[in-house]
Amino acid sequence: MKTIDLRSLSADELHAWALQQDATDPLRKFRSQFLIPERNGTPLTYFCGNSLGLQPKTARTAVEQELTTWQQHGVEGWFEGEEPWLGYHRYCQQTLGQVVGALTEEVCPMNHLTVNLHLMLVSFYQPTPQRYKILTIAGDFPSDQYALETHLKFRGYDPSGALIEVAPRSGEYTIRLEDLLHAIETHANDLALVCMSGLNYYTGQVFDMKTITEKAHSLGINVGFDLAHAAGNIPVQLHDWGVDFAVWCSYKYLNSGPGGVSGVFVHQKHHSSNLVRLAGWWGYEENRRFEMTKGFVPMEGAAGWQLSTPNILALAVHRASLAIFEEATMPLIRQKSEALTGLLAEIIRRLKESGAKIEVMTPTEPSQRGSQLSLLVEGKGKVAFDYLVENGVIGDWREPNCIRLTPAPLYNTFEEVWRTGEILRAVI
Ligand SMILES: *Cc1c(COP(=O)(O)O)cnc(C)c1O
Repeated sequence: MKTIDLRSLSADELHAWALQQDATDPLRKFRSQFLIPERNGTPLTYFCGNSLGLQPKTARTAVEQELTTWQQHGVEGWFEGEEPWLGYHRYCQQTLGQVVGALTEEVCPMNHLTVNLHLMLVSFYQPTPQRYKILTIAGDFPSDQYALETHLKFRGYDPSGALIEVAPRSGEYTIRLEDLLHAIETHANDLALVCMSGLNYYTGQVFDMKTITEKAHSLGINVGFDLAHAAGNIPVQLHDWGVDFAVWCSYKYLNSGPGGVSGVFVHQKHHSSNLVRLAGWWGYEENRRFEMTKGFVPMEGAAGWQLSTPNILALAVHRASLAIFEEATMPLIRQKSEALTGLLAEIIRRLKESGAKIEVMTPTEPSQRGSQLSLLVEGKGKVAFDYLVENGVIGDWREPNCIRLTPAPLYNTFEEVWRTGEILRAVI
């Protein structure tokens, strides 16, 4: 895709540009690999992949295959059949590693996101009487807030003093990198951990994880990221950036189904260290797991943090979805994502220019956002949102006045973004 200044185009030219992008889109074949929800036989414009990504058509066959294995082999399905369940996480690890920029053994699908966050906190939040505070961003996703708050309490600290929250400056929507770095430096003597989302769910702001990690590490502080809104959405290089741990869910941009399996990253440098962990038998050295002996011996890498017998049906869906990411590749996904979101941003800019009372909370700079724009529509927010829904555009509404629209590169089109702009123009 050529970079062209969309601002210089007339409305008709912009529409033509959008249609041309669809026609030449290297990812266009993937839309037909998803089941797009319909209303009265017409596909909805689904801009809600940040909440629940759409179903890949291959998900059903993948689940059916495991149901058949269960039917034919019963318990022996763990060891028999073409693809025994025992090491099922391995069928996902490599692609998962590619998606988050990690070595194969640094990642593992397991558990659920908030559970994994707690498991990682056990291992990577090691408070001492001097250094016991955790630094995070203000207004992070509630589950993360609750995890940090209760984890601090569990260790005997009062979150009101032990949790440092960096907020946007007054009058601003997003958090400045310089303020984050400054806060890390200011609190360095007390800090045990920096733990925050890599991409804020509400504003859509992407944080400079590399620079944050460098700063924290230079001061001897561990760093972990929640990539719930980043995995499968923006390029990340967890290994190269030296991030200590990361967690994410698979049901948002990774399209792996409601309540799908979560994922964990543990950097290679920690694999042979004796990190404290809460263990379960599924993290036990696989070859000896069924000896059922005393004394926990972890599997190598992130897999050693597994706790329980995995949900094979959920993993089967995840694997089917990851196969699409492997084929599409993150660089192409990112390229289209920037163009789709860029078109939406340009349309909103024009609306604003023509007098619409609409604000974009999400950063303007493409490197600081993913497939998302968070809009504040003064007074008319809910009316506008309802009108979008009536016209077949499914976004996401947050009280009191925020509409989030997230065009997903694997199944959304430029034409859909264009049409959404026309609908917004009609209502605002
Ligand atoms: C979606 C999301 C969650 C949800 O956690 P679950 O344990 O999967 O319910 C948590 N944190 C963040 C940042 C999220 O975006």
